[in-house]
Amino acid sequence: MFDNLSLFIDGEWIKEGRRTEDLIDPATEAVLGQVPHATAEDLDRAAKAAHRAFLTWKNVSALERARIISGAAALMRARLDAIAWNLTLESGKPIREARTEVMFAADILDWYAEEGKRAYGRQIPSRLPGAMQVVLKEPVGPCASFAAWNVPATTPCRKIGGALAAGCTLVLKPSEETPATALAIAKAFEDAGLPAGVLNIVFGVPAEISSQLIATAEIRKVSFTGSTEVGKHLARLAADRVLRITLELGGHAPVIVAEDADVEKAAKSVATNKYRNAGQICISPSRFFVHDRVHDSFVRHFTEISAALQVKPGIDEDSDIGALANKRRLDAMEAFVEDATSKGATIECGGRRLGNLGFFFPPTVLSDVPDTASAMTEEIFGPVVPIQRFDTLDGVIEKANALPYGLAAYAYTSSQKTAAEISSRIETGMLGINHTVVFTPETPFGGVKESGYGSEGGIEGLEAYLTPKLVSQLAW
Ligand code: NAD
Repeated sequence: MFDNLSLFIDGEWIKEGRRTEDLIDPATEAVLGQVPHATAEDLDRAAKAAHRAFLTWKNVSALERARIISGAAALMRARLDAIAWNLTLESGKPIREARTEVMFAADILDWYAEEGKRAYGRQIPSRLPGAMQVVLKEPVGPCASFAAWNVPATTPCRKIGGALAAGCTLVLKPSEETPATALAIAKAFEDAGLPAGVLNIVFGVPAEISSQLIATAEIRKVSFTGSTEVGKHLARLAADRVLRITLELGGHAPVIVAEDADVEKAAKSVATNKYRNAGQICISPSRFFVHDRVHDSFVRHFTEISAALQVKPGIDEDSDIGALANKRRLDAMEAFVEDATSKGATIECGGRRLGNLGFFFPPTVLSDVPDTASAMTEEIFGPVVPIQRFDTLDGVIEKANALPYGLAAYAYTSSQKTAAEISSRIETGMLGINHTVVFTPETPFGGVKESGYGSEGGIEGLEAYLTPKLVSQLAW
């Protein structure tokens, strides 16, 4: 796959004669392959192909669409080892995680395939005697979708699954840092019988691609996963054409460990999710607030778990934490630690880059981190864990809500009253109480405040690609 990185436009795999950029293996910093950049003509052709394909795909029955989408999911499972291997090489994440991710991405496709059969409209009694009034759910149209590098199978499948099941077509720009996984997904769709033009894949300079595609007349919806800053920029571009947009942006998930929590269980539970993909997950538990009475015990348990994790190249079967995806994350982790310690935080474990080849950074637990530290206010997106003490529920809820983010939040408590209080007062799109599994195919995945709007899972994820049309008819 790395020798053959291509664009996929109107059913054609294209790479010759295009400018390219190096694809880097984050574990070795070696060049894996060359990522071709789409020209302005390629983008125009992709948008036109998506438009032409839309005119037929929207009329393909939901059953037939489901057959093709599930067919692609089955092929992804059949090709699991090869896809996961490439995913690990290009993203750095451990191979065990890569396999789990590919299987999860296939599950997302299956779920959307089924849900597409249930894109029901409704009938509304009319005020006009004899009139029949129905609401049809129609696909929005061709979409321009932009995915980040951190979950290179999951994010594209959320966007592809929702769009295709609803009857939309798309031009997808996956990250240039993880192209092979998206191309393997596209290949599975091609082999499952997806008509040419329904799914197109392009790479290039992100800002150039988004500004051209979003301004193209054929595009009717935008979907983006990435940072809040870029999300705001795309929202402005989409506003110029009054396009629908789904934004899945950054987060800085608070974790509240209450005084009545089972501290040992809480530490285990939250560590599993915190270190998934070395913390480079938008819903990663990210700012830890631990009640004064259980603080020391929690820090001890959590540090023990963190320090025992194996930081190794992702292709090692026993790797728990692979290389960070790119040099930007490594630099960011160093800056978070330096800033926090200069403001009085204590390093409980980790704290420095491992080796000087590959982007390896160990689990790093910081205690007594002050509010002014950047780790408490900026999205971390890595294996650094800032921990603070708290003494009142009111105070900690206020802190949890103080940032502009509102994607995920977690709480550990054995009190029903505390759980209810946190549920009703935390400003978040997803809340896990006593566990962290808030990302299944059937549940809405999305944020509030500057973490974005719209959902990429559950029935809401399908709705995002549908638009209501009222038809009111008098029989003459
Ligand atoms: P970034 O926002 O620059 O890039 C994220 C993705 O957006 C990349 O795949 C990039 O190719 C794409 N992108 C960037 N500019 C674009 C544009 N103008 N038009 C279209 N696509 C564009 O961020 P990054 O440096 O890769 O990561 C930095 C931060 O982004 C992280 O710290 C994290 O906060 C956030 N991030 C969030 C998610 C998420 O799942 N919500 C994923 C990746 C990164």
